[in-house]
Amino acid sequence: MTINFDKLGLKEVINASGRMTILGVSKVSESVMAAQRFGGEHFFEMADLSEKTGAYIANLLDVEDAQIVSSASAGIAQSIAAVIGQGAVYHAYHPYTEKITKREVILPKGHNVDYGTPVEVMVEQGGGKVVEAGYANVCSAEHLEMMISENTAAILYIKSHHTVQKSMLSVEEAAEVAKRYHVPLIVDAAAEEDLFFYYKAGADLVIYSGAKAIEGPSAGLVIGKKAPIEWVRLQGKGIGRAMKIGKDNILGFTQAIEDYLTNGSESGKSMQARLKPFTKAINQINHLTATVVQDSAGRDIYRASVHVSGEHSAKDVIAALKKESPAVYTREYQANNGIIEFDIRSVNEEEMNKIVARLHDIME
Ligand SMILES: *Cc1c(COP(=O)(O)O)cnc(C)c1O
Repeated sequence: MTINFDKLGLKEVINASGRMTILGVSKVSESVMAAQRFGGEHFFEMADLSEKTGAYIANLLDVEDAQIVSSASAGIAQSIAAVIGQGAVYHAYHPYTEKITKREVILPKGHNVDYGTPVEVMVEQGGGKVVEAGYANVCSAEHLEMMISENTAAILYIKSHHTVQKSMLSVEEAAEVAKRYHVPLIVDAAAEEDLFFYYKAGADLVIYSGAKAIEGPSAGLVIGKKAPIEWVRLQGKGIGRAMKIGKDNILGFTQAIEDYLTNGSESGKSMQARLKPFTKAINQINHLTATVVQDSAGRDIYRASVHVSGEHSAKDVIAALKKESPAVYTREYQANNGIIEFDIRSVNEEEMNKIVARLHDIME
């Protein structure tokens, strides 16, 4: 019997919440699956596969070198280990050796977030010691600068909607400090859509997650300068072994990056068009009022914002939507205000019809 939801007793999931790790992040395209299949069905000289896919991606992104890793989290840990060990094989075998004391990683305090795992856990896995700069609500270039010491191994900058946004220094400002003190700058841009900006802004290493904006399989990408990427690659002899990625996903992710650069992601205009019949159908259900709203951070993403009135609360409706199979997951950030948001980036027309039918059953 081939694999399916029933065989394992799993619920089917409609993901109207966005690119969420708790739901498996994203679905992959036919061309990515074909690349994964090619990987699954052949053997390779793995060192060669690793270097040549890296060189291919580096050429696409106009950077010195690149390395595919198993996740952005692995990218953080291995990048930290890389800049601490600086290519020493002894360090790769003994990543936490006391012979190396230059281990401090300066991180704006408002960037020390939990994205599903605390950033500092990944830094510590790489052998780094987090030194926070600034305060919970503010970090300037001076705040960063005053934490630099002879034990500084790197500056780490987290570019994410998870971090504190106000009164934070820009990537360019962090790069300026890093350059002035000859300290490497690592940027975690895991969920960001721009694959060019952060390197150009002066980062030595930039980290992306495979299945978020790029919609690849489970993977991560580190791009950057030649030497530190080589040091990242060296971690395969040490901590990187516990973060190994398979040949299928290396090839699938390489294809996904190329497809992403060629096709981009769905435009806001297209989302608005797809949302029109969806919101119209929802508006015909008692006690629901649907409108189309733009992403609050101003990204080119549009969602259905559904206000719930009457005897049901938004929280009740959210819980009821998750109960059956397919379980419908929504964006819940506004539930306290009586609003449920539907992110349709990974929802097709058939699934939208199922959502409308479920809302109908719940509300009537
Ligand atoms: C998702 C995320 C990560 C981790 O990405 P994985 O590929 O799931 O390990 C790291 N940093 C930030 C800011 C993220 O949003």
